[in-house]
Amino acid sequence: MADYKAPLRDMRFVLNEVFGAPKLWQTLPALAEVVDAETAEAILEEAGKITANSIAPLNRSGDEEGCSWVDGAVTTPAGYPEAYRLYAEGGWVGVGGDPAYGGMGMPKAISAQVEEMMNSASLAFGLYPMLTSGACLSIYAHASEELKQKYLPNMYAGVWSGSMCLTEPHAGTDLGIIRTKAEPQADGSYKVSGTKIFITGGEHDLTENIIHLVLAKLPDAPAGSRGISLFLVPKVMVNEDGSLGEHNSLGCGSIEHKMGIQASATCVMNFDGATGWMVGEPNKGLAAMFTMMNYERLGVGIQGLATGERSYQSAIEYARERIQSRAPTGPVAQDKAADPIIVHPDVRRMLLTMKALNEGGRAFSSYVALQLDIAKFSDDAEARQRAEALVALLTPVAKAFLTDMGLETTVHGQQVFGGHGFIREWGQEQLVRDCRITQIYEGTNGIQALDLLGRKVVGSGGELYNAFAEEVRSYCAAAGSELGEFTAPLQAALENLDALTSFVIDSAKRNPNEIGAASVEYLHVFGYTAYAYMWARMAEAAVGKETQDDFYASKLGTARFYFARLLPRIHSLSASVRAGSDSLYLLEASQF
Ligand SMILES: Cc1cc2nc3c(=O)[nH]c(=O)nc-3n(C[C@H](O)[C@H](O)[C@H](O)COP(=O)(O)OP(=O)(O)OC[C@H]3O[C@@H](n4cnc5c(N)ncnc54)[C@H](O)[C@@H]3O)c2cc1C
Repeated sequence: MADYKAPLRDMRFVLNEVFGAPKLWQTLPALAEVVDAETAEAILEEAGKITANSIAPLNRSGDEEGCSWVDGAVTTPAGYPEAYRLYAEGGWVGVGGDPAYGGMGMPKAISAQVEEMMNSASLAFGLYPMLTSGACLSIYAHASEELKQKYLPNMYAGVWSGSMCLTEPHAGTDLGIIRTKAEPQADGSYKVSGTKIFITGGEHDLTENIIHLVLAKLPDAPAGSRGISLFLVPKVMVNEDGSLGEHNSLGCGSIEHKMGIQASATCVMNFDGATGWMVGEPNKGLAAMFTMMNYERLGVGIQGLATGERSYQSAIEYARERIQSRAPTGPVAQDKAADPIIVHPDVRRMLLTMKALNEGGRAFSSYVALQLDIAKFSDDAEARQRAEALVALLTPVAKAFLTDMGLETTVHGQQVFGGHGFIREWGQEQLVRDCRITQIYEGTNGIQALDLLGRKVVGSGGELYNAFAEEVRSYCAAAGSELGEFTAPLQAALENLDALTSFVIDSAKRNPNEIGAASVEYLHVFGYTAYAYMWARMAEAAVGKETQDDFYASKLGTARFYFARLLPRIHSLSASVRAGSDSLYLLEASQF
């Protein structure tokens, strides 16, 4: 596999030239003091170095070796503890954390780029810090000041890690039916008992303590999702003076053997009356989890993009070097026995699809990250509200579309290598295996689509949808005529999405199955339209500069490819949506 090289040029382009992020940060009080264009640049450069030099080289060996479990102890692959220490010492775990507790205080638009680099370098490695920052977000937003003081500084510093314990053997998507119990104790703590499965980083040898955030039910809890509370349960008890005490009553029963991310420990966790403390209010645990979910789900979307980027970097190098057959228009490499495969139309189709989806995904995830920053830091209530609406609407799109496109991209990357993509040596098959989980965890992509169409679009009577549609409409109306080749198809795509949205809102009134029948294809139509908006904005930032720098010429060429070859996918997807749910219910369960 080609060495990983962080796509810093494109990240800079997206942040500075497309979205003007440094200017935006200056308008957000908490950010104006801590970040400007130079700081952002320095952080991204450093992140590029550590991920490329210290983490990327462990990706293949980590996959080969995997994690091992002996008597409850989990050992990560060789080199992982050292690399994790280096990563933690650089302050990267707390890059987005509040400086009051030792975090770096950076906006999500920067930590999103860092996440991309880390996950391109190694998705399995990246999960450990990612779960830690996810746990920190919930503690920061909902825990008591005492818990925050006690746990956050060591978690941001990467000395302790975090895990999210939601799933149980019988309860994945439907967390309302979990059985883990929390019994209140006289001293204000709780005894937590139950079994959680599939817990990423539930046990490992990277840090001296692991802080589990566990969903459980109080004895008198109402049934369903309104009866779930959230608890902080440390692996090792923390004394009043901050030193480590006794081992808590919990353990790792086993780790899973799985398709990919072999270096990430996926654990069965048993809690046997383990001591914990409530985070947030009784029976409001799911709401507390939702605080981190918008960040986490965007982060999982970025994992899809990250594997796609790594796959592209290898594929483009291979396509320039591998020689097979002659170009249809006549020999190109006269001095060689055959031409490099990059001359062939189908190989170009695959490479350009990868490039267009990766760069579209990078712009889209950065756009959503900027909305998260506005929602969190703006002192203008109206701007905050609008950004919150966009985050609510676009987060399921970012999670599902970026990961679906991530898998498509890694499969194209594998295909570019032919048979060499199927064997292990070149690393392409690992990227396909690793990427696959991103469509499943953190809420399956089917559930993301239901969230988008059911809760967000139909549930808000179209209000959230309009927040996005209005922005795209105004953008098209204000764009200059030199952008017409991009804004005309963008506007047509938006009109198609408007009509599709009205169609589903209407048909859902007649038949409750219509939302679930339409949701995945609807999300994809939405995703392609959102990427078209991103590609129009990228083209706008590149147009007129194409003769100065190949980077801009490449941007414009890729934008044209996106509009010509990828955006038209919305037509067949829209036809599927319009076909409705009837054909899904022609068979009895026994007739399948
Ligand atoms: C490697 C790995 C790491 C993980 N890490 C963690 C972790 O750190 N913490 C944690 O708590 N969990 C974790 N998970 C669990 C993961 O989040 C769940 O597997 C996922 O949410 C799906 O739950 P499930 O497996 O029980 O599938 P199910 O909920 O049983 O779903 C099965 C299928 O039915 C569909 N389905 C279910 N309900 C509906 C519905 N209402 N409408 C339409 N379709 C529906 C789903 O989309 C899916 O296709 C991890 C899983 C894996 C494999």
